[in-house]
Order: sequence, then structure tokens, then C-alpha cells
Amino acid sequence: MLEDPTTMEVPDDDVLYHVGRIGSHFVVMVVCPRMGIEPAATALANMRRSFPNIKHVLVVGIAGGMPCYGPDLQEQIVLGDVVVGVPQHGRGGVTHYEFGAWEGQKELTVKEHTLHPSAALLTAVNNLRSVHMQVAGSKIPRYLEELRRGLNERSRQAYEDPGAEYDHLFEDSYLHTDRGRFCQGLCDATRAKLRKSRGKRAERKSDQPHIHHGNIGSANAVVRSSAKRNELHARHNIICLEMEAAGVMSDYQGLVIRGVCDYADSHKNKKWQGYAAATAAAYAKELLLLLPAGGGSSTESSLPDERNGTRGDGWYVGRDQFHNSGGGFMNFNMGAGYQTNNNTAGNQYNAPFYGHPSAIPQWPKY
Ligand SMILES: [Zn+2]
Repeated sequence: MLEDPTTMEVPDDDVLYHVGRIGSHFVVMVVCPRMGIEPAATALANMRRSFPNIKHVLVVGIAGGMPCYGPDLQEQIVLGDVVVGVPQHGRGGVTHYEFGAWEGQKELTVKEHTLHPSAALLTAVNNLRSVHMQVAGSKIPRYLEELRRGLNERSRQAYEDPGAEYDHLFEDSYLHTDRGRFCQGLCDATRAKLRKSRGKRAERKSDQPHIHHGNIGSANAVVRSSAKRNELHARHNIICLEMEAAGVMSDYQGLVIRGVCDYADSHKNKKWQGYAAATAAAYAKELLLLLPAGGGSSTESSLPDERNGTRGDGWYVGRDQFHNSGGGFMNFNMGAGYQTNNNTAGNQYNAPFYGHPSAIPQWPKY
């Protein structure tokens, strides 16, 4: 998804960063070494040290989806769809559902500690919603096509839309009995719904995922249980589940963007992971092209020592060459990663804009 992609080593940081541009933003991506909230928090901390003027943080990758949500559970999430974590029903957009206190005889009382995305990112999300309602619609299909065009035949297949016939939603009570085998040949296909039997809201054309906005559940445990998934939806209004965002959102007003690759049940497999990672990344690209690249402080830390300047002094105002730089966090599973976008372009673009700027900023010398 990057223009002019390359890699960058930074002194005193043993991580290799992937850097490039998206429109007028400089972008830095890091791949998490393993799944989990702490590795994600550590990866972002290292990145912030190496790129101290990061402005926006995006967490991009895959997730398990709640098949239906909303009033009367009418909204349908199908595999390949994108979920964007935005504030809803009094929640910030990401819930760390295993973080809280065991009190009395009761269950875990979840302590909401996650932040909502920054005003700049939320504005971009809303602007993109209105762009998608217009005749031209989303550019996601175009970006998916461009992504695949740059890959060799074998890699390309991993990012194709597998198609509706591979999207099986099994009955909640029907369990996958052997994790060493695929559903095909093991599970009874008559116990699964295909999209065509899930109504009009589950219909999708190839490469045209729907975008859902709501609350994302984050914790260190993999959810491979429809019962647990449904419980989390009922308790926290969670519409998809992943394992990194809470490590970022506890400190930053980032935005979490997830492609749905399974239904977080016992039948989950990896078939949709590549495509779902690609749809989330394509959405991230479209969003960044709508995000003004001017200065300002969009990413705010909730840590007091960040605000009083023991470390954050100069965070926004160019402590080094990455003056006015921005950040994002891109996380492809099989490649969780951060994407940060830096810019040195200043305020020459009036927000909001859509499409590539005429002046292309250059990477500053490191
Ligand atoms: Zn199965």
C-alpha cells in the first residue's frame, strides 16, 4: 500500500522499519514480533523513541468478527469486511475486556481504560463515510487490485477475495472437533449458513467489503468460541476481537482498523487472513489520503510524564529531523505491524482533501 517503499534502520533500535509514503504522509510500519497486547505496546514504544514526532497511530490487521450486531442483530459482518473502532454507546472504540477487577462474588468488572481515537482521525473516518456514500464509492477495490498487481503469482493468490462460497457461518452449537483438520471433510456443511441465506445485508460483490464502525474487543487470549464471542458482544457491544489494540490504545489516541478473517468460533482457519489484512490496509490507505498532513497535535498520550515534558517535550515540534512527523501502526497478522506516517510537508494542503497532492514530500535525511 506504500508508495516508494523501502526499509530503514535506526541507531540504537534493532527493529527494521518499513517506510514509504501514502499521499502526503510519511509512513513508518513495524511488524509485531508476536501476538499480544504487551508486544504491541513495546513495538510502539520503540517506534516512538526512534521517530519521536509521530503524529497519528493506526493499528491495522485482522480480527475475528461478530457475525451480526445492531438493532435486532440485522447488521451482517461477513469475511473480508472491515471494522473500524470508533466511540459508541459510551465506549471509546476499543475495550480491553480482560482488564479489570474481580469483585465480591461477581464476575470481572471491566475497567474501561482505553482512549478514543483523536479528533483528527475521527474526522477523517466521518469524511470517509460520506465519501463512500457518494456515487464513486470506496477506492478499496482499486487499492486491492494495485496491491495484487505488484505481487508474484503465488503471493497474489493469498490476497484474492476467496469468494462467498468459502464463507461458512456455522451454528453456534455446532463445534469443530479436530483442530488438526479443516472444516472440509470434517464438519457438516448443512450446519453452516452461506451468505446467500443470511439476507441482503450479507451480500457483497467481489473486492467490495463493507465497513462497520463500532467497539473492538482486545485481550491476550485467542477467542475460538462462539459462546464467548456472543457473550462479549452482549456485555460490551463488541463487534470484533483482536489481540493488540489495547496495548496501543491505553496510551494513544490511535485508530484501530481490522479486516475480519473468521468468526472467532471453533471453525476459524487461516484461509481469509491475507485478504482480510489487505482490505484493512486498503481502508487505512484511503483514510490517510483524507487525513490532512498539516502540523498540529493529533496523537496525544495519556501518560502524565509524556505531557509534562520529561519525555514528550518536543514531541510535536521537531526534536529532530522528523519535524511535524506523523505516525500510524499497521499490523498485518502473519505480520502484525505498525504504520506511522510522518510528514514534513507543513500546512500547504487544505483539509480535507482527497487524492494525491501535487507536491510530493521527500523523506528527510536521517
Ligand atoms: Zn469446522
